[in-house]
Amino acid sequence: MGRAHVVVIPYPAQGHVLPLLSFSGYLAKQGILTTFVNTEFNHNCIINSLSNSSHVADGINLVSVSDGLEDSPEERNIPGKLSESVLRFMPTKVEELIERMIAGGTIISCVVADQSLGWAIGVAVKFGIRRATFCPAAAASMVLGFSIQKLIDDGLIDTDGTSSVNKTIQLSPGMPMMETDKFVWVCLKNRESQRNIFQLMLQNNETVELTDWFLCNSVYELETAAFGLYPHILPVGPIGLAHCFQEDSISTSLGSFLSQDRDCLDWLDRQIRGSVIYVAFGSYGVISNNQVDELATGLELTQRPVLWVTGPGGQQPIKLWSDRVKVVRWAPQREVLSCGAIGCFVSHCGWNSTLEGAQNGIPFLCIPYFADQFINKAYICDVWKTGLGFERDGRGEVLRLEVKKKIDEIMREDGEYKKRATIMKEIVMKSVAKDGVSYENLDKFVNWIKSQVK
Ligand code: UDP
Repeated sequence: MGRAHVVVIPYPAQGHVLPLLSFSGYLAKQGILTTFVNTEFNHNCIINSLSNSSHVADGINLVSVSDGLEDSPEERNIPGKLSESVLRFMPTKVEELIERMIAGGTIISCVVADQSLGWAIGVAVKFGIRRATFCPAAAASMVLGFSIQKLIDDGLIDTDGTSSVNKTIQLSPGMPMMETDKFVWVCLKNRESQRNIFQLMLQNNETVELTDWFLCNSVYELETAAFGLYPHILPVGPIGLAHCFQEDSISTSLGSFLSQDRDCLDWLDRQIRGSVIYVAFGSYGVISNNQVDELATGLELTQRPVLWVTGPGGQQPIKLWSDRVKVVRWAPQREVLSCGAIGCFVSHCGWNSTLEGAQNGIPFLCIPYFADQFINKAYICDVWKTGLGFERDGRGEVLRLEVKKKIDEIMREDGEYKKRATIMKEIVMKSVAKDGVSYENLDKFVNWIKSQVK
């Protein structure tokens, strides 16, 4: 009998590639081969940022296709441009790749497509291959997508996704409150891009009918209301944690677009347990120069140690005030959050960061900017109550005294937020341990894949 072989296709962004690679790593540990499809640009970033000691995991074959932006690489950073180009070029490239694989004698057991690439499910249908959708975001974000028609029918948004009057809504009791002018697709300044993304979400909803499995990188107990609304969405997260349970280590540098600065782990080792403020805003350069300075000044006022990730934008805080502060371009974030030195996480609330904080019992201070970050922030602050938001001034910025006030509040001796975050950690750990909901769902999926092999 041959080995099961899946083709995994992430949306070409850091926050998608990492969880889908963890998923592939998990499958590889179960003896399932993966062909992992990156764009050429991301593939090169990943290979270049691997440290000498790391190697591409056994059982995962990294391949690449064009994203169509070779001639205008700067467009990758313009919101909406990448997704437009991906939609125009990638379907044909992926189709050709699968055709070549089949012609070469590979029997593909299943295509696992990122939820935002509904067309990839269509390609699998065309070749008669089984399919699974993997959502790297919260189930609540997907439920919002599924609710679009109802939102239009209720007059809350028009057919472009725009709301004329801002309203706060709740899709079901227990779900986070959402503001209509901060819906995932609304947050872009460019109306044309908004329309494109909105249309894409509608198209992706249609492919849901065509998929055999709907997996979500989340935890049942963290989102009971959302999973209650759509029981066919199966939580399998945090997939990074499920994978590292298999690996017996958290060291998975594979998938980073930038090389990780591992020196900061030694620096963290020298800090007092639970004392360090970790500042990181994910893979998009979302924070303004002004905000960087204001935040840095506020952090200085707290007199606490800080580990600050500047990210791909590389914006340095002007004030590098003392040896209490360590600034790196890109950190091994999963290891940073699990090392015990971190007391709180100043975050943009990307879903991966949200889960990684939750699985390590870290309280949050939230500065969301766009997309699903507002939903994740609402989970942290209002539903789980493991973090706080910041008040912003008229220009939308968080001022230094507000930074100090909230940091002092979250790091208070009595540790109310820490206590709740610790309970959260236990819940999350149980989900990927034997008999947990995520564990069981992963197990079912793996058995199903293996049963496809003739
Ligand atoms: N990350 C990292 N090093 C850093 C900052 C981030 O490895 O210095 C990882 C982080 O662990 C997470 C991902 O990058 O898995 C960012 O995903 P997230 O959904 O939080 O944010 P996005 O980049 O999609 O906005």
